[in-house]
Amino acid sequence: MKSKVERNQEVSFNRGVYLQEVRSNPNFDIIIIGGGATGLGAALDATARGFRTLLLEQADFAKGTSSRSTKLIHGGVRYLGQGDIKLVFEALFERGILLKNAPHVVSMQPFANPDYKWWNEFLSGVGLKIYDWMAFRYRFPKTALLGRKTVEKLLPNVRKEGLKGGVLYYDGQFDDARLAINIAQTSADLGGILINYMRVTDLLKGPDQRIAGVKAVDAESGEEYVLNAKAVVNATGVFVDEVLKMNSSTQEPMVRPSQGVHIVLDHSFLEGDNALMIPSTEDGRVLFAVPWHDHLLVGTTDTPLDKHSLEPVALENEIDFILKTLRGYLVRKPQRKDVLSVFAGLRPLAAQGNHNGKTKEISRSHKLMTSASGLVSITGGKWTTYRKMAEDTVDEAIRVAGLQKVECPTAALHIHGFSNNGSDKGHLHIYGSDATGILAIANERPELARKLHEAFPYIGAEVVWAVRHEMARTVEDVLARRLRVLFLNARVAMEMAPEVAKLMAAEMGTDYSWQEAQVKAFSRVAVPYLGQDKKETKLSEIK
Ligand SMILES: Cc1cc2nc3c(=O)[nH]c(=O)nc-3n(C[C@H](O)[C@H](O)[C@H](O)COP(=O)(O)OP(=O)(O)OC[C@H]3O[C@@H](n4cnc5c(N)ncnc54)[C@H](O)[C@@H]3O)c2cc1C
Repeated sequence: MKSKVERNQEVSFNRGVYLQEVRSNPNFDIIIIGGGATGLGAALDATARGFRTLLLEQADFAKGTSSRSTKLIHGGVRYLGQGDIKLVFEALFERGILLKNAPHVVSMQPFANPDYKWWNEFLSGVGLKIYDWMAFRYRFPKTALLGRKTVEKLLPNVRKEGLKGGVLYYDGQFDDARLAINIAQTSADLGGILINYMRVTDLLKGPDQRIAGVKAVDAESGEEYVLNAKAVVNATGVFVDEVLKMNSSTQEPMVRPSQGVHIVLDHSFLEGDNALMIPSTEDGRVLFAVPWHDHLLVGTTDTPLDKHSLEPVALENEIDFILKTLRGYLVRKPQRKDVLSVFAGLRPLAAQGNHNGKTKEISRSHKLMTSASGLVSITGGKWTTYRKMAEDTVDEAIRVAGLQKVECPTAALHIHGFSNNGSDKGHLHIYGSDATGILAIANERPELARKLHEAFPYIGAEVVWAVRHEMARTVEDVLARRLRVLFLNARVAMEMAPEVAKLMAAEMGTDYSWQEAQVKAFSRVAVPYLGQDKKETKLSEIK
């Protein structure tokens, strides 16, 4: 076991430095495969307990499901309806902890739920009051029943005809990919090593057939690594079964992917600070329309799939379903042309026997499985509960590998960037205490204080910061997961790409052909986010 590693803070969270550290000492207590919410949480937990920890992510941190959520830190109102009381209790507790430890990335969000039938108002009011109460000491402001006039004031664009009243309640909201980076940085601040673009290709086993480490390939250089560990954690989301197959070719599938799609619209389609909750869509789901980074995020769907990928694509009928449902609640009705971005994510739902294709009914709570070889696999769950999932996972890794027992300290651990400084830094508020570093870059080089695009407040200094301190390696890393432009407005993101490539190249010392290749690669990824009818959108039409 090894405690805090002293690193030069000038080169914090630096891929080159970490590769060097891995080469000079390839022996770890715990290796974690997968850099989404689950794996990053486990890496933070393991380093916080003092274990020598390595996390390997095949693409960018949060490239998978963890950047594609509804951005809610919540107990899950619908799980209450389904009677999943334990999950709701656990998630509401974790919601409180996250708001306390990462107030720069997580905030409180009011939701107004308009009702067009009196009994609905009564029923949802009672349900949401129970939801309130279940948060105990981490309770948010009280749920309130609203008169018709108040609903109209809180949701200015909501349909007035037949409106009886509504309910106001509070939940948490966050930026998923930014929290992922901050969790990774917290782990690194404590001595953890986290490397993106490094794919695990095989598992190592000792003569006793027990897990002994992993083989991995650096996607940038092609270099192969053989890395030893006392415990290996498989936290690969919808890819969990692929790693299980590396462990045993006869392994039964552990997850079933279900696709959820979101669309993003101009904020004016809702107006105001409140989110809209539609408690029951035609297919019996909850649909949210939530203000997010000055836009309106609407979702989600639930479509069972047989295949998974790192870039799932929204189906036409999913986009149409969201638009149609939303139109039923709004005066100004959004059309297909109003969609600024569309993104799809895959739920790594833990399959439980025969689910008859209805993914809503598959458990949302997490599942831990330990193979005979000692491989610990963790899947399912929610972003909201990532910390508790990590605690359970590391407890299990300690047990399986016979590591020294150490209490989990993460409930009281501030996340990197922790700041109580309010929102006086404008859009840089999301960086918390790191905003000072970004402003310093902008002050030193005034050309980096300029906006990247007139449609967004983001400045050049943020790109430089992302390369220097947030391990951004590609234009997509910056535009999709450090700044969230691809998820907010895909067309603008494509327009920003050449400038971002130029700034990155200057910082990374790469040449013009790198910039060109990056812009092309980004365009290919971005086209499906445009949300246009795929038959009409050709890559050649994109600048
Ligand atoms: C549409 C949708 C909306 C959601 N909304 C919410 C919400 O509002 N609130 C909430 O709390 N939860 C929400 N969730 C759930 C939450 O997003 C997921 O539970 C969580 O992101 C899963 O994280 P993960 O780390 O398990 O998976 P992922 O984020 O997919 O991470 C797995 C990672 O493993 C990597 N990997 C795979 N194979 C390898 C390999 N061989 N080597 C190295 N790396 C590998 C992948 O590249 C990937 O990055 C939502 C989920 C979906 C799909």
